[in-house]
Amino acid sequence: MERTLFEPEHDLFRESFRKFLDQHVAPNHAKWEEQGIVDREVWLEAGKQGFLGMAMPEEYGGGGVKDFRYNAIVAEESVRGQYSGLGFALHNDVIAPYLSELANEEQKQRWLPGFCSGEIITAIAMTEPGTGSDLQGIKTRAVRDGDDWVLNGSKTFITNGINSDIVIVVAQTDPEKGAMGFSLLVVERGMPGFERGRNLDKLGLKAQDTAELSFTDVRVPAANLLGQEGQGFIHLMQNLPQERLSIAVMAAAAMEACLDMTIQYVRDRKAFGKPIGTFQNTRFVLAELATKTTAVRVLVDRFIEDLNRGKLSVEDAAMAKWWSTEEQVELIDRCLQLHGGYGYMKEYPIAKAYMDARVQTIYGGTTEIMKEIIGRSLKLS
Ligand SMILES: Cc1cc2nc3c(=O)[nH]c(=O)nc-3n(C[C@H](O)[C@H](O)[C@H](O)COP(=O)(O)OP(=O)(O)OC[C@H]3O[C@@H](n4cnc5c(N)ncnc54)[C@H](O)[C@@H]3O)c2cc1C
Repeated sequence: MERTLFEPEHDLFRESFRKFLDQHVAPNHAKWEEQGIVDREVWLEAGKQGFLGMAMPEEYGGGGVKDFRYNAIVAEESVRGQYSGLGFALHNDVIAPYLSELANEEQKQRWLPGFCSGEIITAIAMTEPGTGSDLQGIKTRAVRDGDDWVLNGSKTFITNGINSDIVIVVAQTDPEKGAMGFSLLVVERGMPGFERGRNLDKLGLKAQDTAELSFTDVRVPAANLLGQEGQGFIHLMQNLPQERLSIAVMAAAAMEACLDMTIQYVRDRKAFGKPIGTFQNTRFVLAELATKTTAVRVLVDRFIEDLNRGKLSVEDAAMAKWWSTEEQVELIDRCLQLHGGYGYMKEYPIAKAYMDARVQTIYGGTTEIMKEIIGRSLKLS
């Protein structure tokens, strides 16, 4: 299917991002997978070449263009190359809007130039050991003391958790008020009492640092409150649709890549004296998967346009997230089957795709929570 989403300037951007991946990521990614984390230099190089903060204002070193198509290109090309260690999508797609929409002028001057240059790597910490889907149940607490907030609690599964220089922490600042008692506090590297725990050993995304974080009497200056006190939950709800679409963008790209590699494989691999692609079952499976991939692509591209127009609803994003990621997981499983025993070998890209994909239906809100969001909007009771 011919995509109609992009203009010539996007194609140029894609080409230069591909070059960046070939030069600075491809030679290092296997090493990063072994060490469980990417080297910081790749962030600096990405910043130098304009791949961080494309939507941030130019005065802070950003690209000055609010157009999610650039974010989509970064995500798509990273997925296509299986460079799953890069935390750029979290930085550009998830964190950027928090900082550009909620930070005051003084905060922007402190954080945005480093965000765009790659000197400040970012993370967001919502999930806790005791609560993930039920965000309202978080226990991390901040109490005001003079000009500071005193922060206590722990977070887990935090992407960029080890490399991050600033972390947007969701904390209870007024427990009496329930969901209206949350605030966002920006915790910076080196603040006393802020510790990083384990870099977690995951099934996939091996080069991505996903960590536990703990906060013991961390004095966070009041000047690091992001957005409005007590509005943290609302700020989260406003930003989650873009995060979810970003995950759907990765799903669509992964489906295309895995379908392509499987078509290639079944053309080459022979059984019973002929290519396995000539069996009717193979043709039917791949015909189904090609149809589903196209359907996901149409939906995702349409929702990127809607996001750019400010029209992507919470429900739309939930639909894109659960459906594309479930389709991705199913497609990769069936493509792996067509690879036979080789599909189970880590040296084959389909095996890596399989391991990297599984989390897609979980993070950013699980499939079940997405269906709850959509179901609620149908006003069934
Ligand atoms: C690799 C990775 C990276 C991550 N990165 C981040 C990050 O950067 N920042 C961050 O804050 N978090 C991050 N997360 C956390 C992620 O968002 C949570 O894991 C996710 O929201 C699910 O929460 P949970 O793990 O506590 O599962 P639970 O909430 O315990 O859910 C367990 C199961 O119960 C189901 N369930 C829960 N409630 C309901 C319900 N009401 N109805 C039906 N079913 C329900 C869920 O769908 C799921 O199947 C990451 C997770 C992973 C694995």
